[in-house]
Amino acid sequence: MAGKRDFYEILGVGKDADAAALKKAYRKLAVKYHPDKNPDDKKAEEKFKEAAEAYEVLNDPQKRARYDRFGHAGMQGAGGGGGFRGGMTMDDIFSQFGDIFNDSPFESFFGGGASRGGGARTRGQRGSNLRIKVALSLEEIENGVTKKIKVKKQVTCNSCHGSGAKDSSSVSSCSTCKGSGYVRQVKSTFLGQMQTTTACPTCNGSGQEITAKCTTCRGAGTNYGDETVEIEIPAGVEEGMQLSMRGGGNMGKYGGQSGDLLISIEEKPHEFLQREGSNLTYDLYVNFADAALGTSIEVPTIGGRVKIKIPAGTQPGKIFRLKGKGLPSIQGYGKGDQLIHMNVWTPKNLTKEETKLLEKMRDMPNFRPQPKKGEKGFFDRMKDYFG
Ligand SMILES: [Zn+2]
Ligand SMILES: [Zn+2]
Repeated sequence: MAGKRDFYEILGVGKDADAAALKKAYRKLAVKYHPDKNPDDKKAEEKFKEAAEAYEVLNDPQKRARYDRFGHAGMQGAGGGGGFRGGMTMDDIFSQFGDIFNDSPFESFFGGGASRGGGARTRGQRGSNLRIKVALSLEEIENGVTKKIKVKKQVTCNSCHGSGAKDSSSVSSCSTCKGSGYVRQVKSTFLGQMQTTTACPTCNGSGQEITAKCTTCRGAGTNYGDETVEIEIPAGVEEGMQLSMRGGGNMGKYGGQSGDLLISIEEKPHEFLQREGSNLTYDLYVNFADAALGTSIEVPTIGGRVKIKIPAGTQPGKIFRLKGKGLPSIQGYGKGDQLIHMNVWTPKNLTKEETKLLEKMRDMPNFRPQPKKGEKGFFDRMKDYFG
C-alpha cells in the first residue's frame, strides 16, 4: 500500500477531528467530485473514491484506532470483516454513503451507513429520471451552447397548481403527524433500540391532508405534459458523454422531488472535418501540379476558411498543423489543433492529350522518386539489398 495518501490528509482534517468534522469534510469532497458533476472525469472519480475510502475508515472508531496505530498496513488482511477491501466501486459508495447527499431533515440517524431506498424518509414519491439525446454540431461543441428542448414529462398539474387538492377549502393539517410530515418510531434491532423518523404514512410526508382530491390529477399534483428546458452544454463535450440536470426529470407525485434529466451527447457529422479527441482533421486533395509547383489553397476550419501555403515539392502524407484551430478540452484549458492531411489527386479518365502529356513526363528524370541527400537512388538500393 505504498504511496497511499494519509486518510486525514485526504479529508483535510486534523487527527482529533470528531464525527461531525469528518462528515462535513467528506461531504464537501463528495459534492465537489461527485460523478454527476464531473461526467467522464477519471481524476474526479479517483478523488471521489479516495475520499469515500478515507471516510469509511475514519468514521468507524475501530478501524480508525487500527489505522492510527498501524497506518495503511493495519487496514489490510487481519481484522476479519472490518478491514477495508480496497477499491470500492461507485455502487458501494452510493449504497453506503448515499445519505450524505440528502439534505432532508431526516438525515442519517445512525451514523454514516444506514437506510437506503430513502423513499420512505422523504416526502411524496420521487419522479423518475428522464433520458434525452442532444445532437450537436462541431461548431456548437467548440463554443458550448444553451439548448432549449421541449421534453414530454410529468409536470405541475394545471388545475390544482401541484397541490393535489380540489380547491383551497379541501386542504387541512394532517391529523396523524399534526402537520409535521413525519412520525417517529422506536424499533428494536440487533444494535439495540433505535429511533427512526419516517414520512407520515397518512399524508406521504406532505403534512397536509386533502379532503377532496383534484379531479384532473387525482391528487398527485402532476400531469403528463411538456416543458421546455434550457440545457447549458459546456464546450468540448464528446459523443457518448452524459450530462445530468438535477431535478430536470419527471416531477415527483404528492410533493416528491423531481427526478433528474440525463442528457446523452451525440455529434452530428461535419461536412468537412473529422474529430480526433480535441484535434480536428481534414483530408486535403491537391492536384499533382500544385504539389510540385507549390500553391496557396483555402481549407475549411471550424471558424471559417483559412488559406494555407503548400510549398513546392510537398509529398503526399505531409501533415500541416493549424495550431489552436481544434476543439477546447472539456476541463476548460487548452485547445486542440486542426491537422490537414495532404493527399495528391491522381487523375482518372484521361483525354488523349492528357495521356500524351503524362507519357512524356513519365520518363523525365525529376519525376522519379528522388533519393535523399547523400543517399543512393532507389534502384541502386534495391540492387544492394536483394542482389
Ligand atoms: Zn391537480
Ligand atoms: Zn401526516
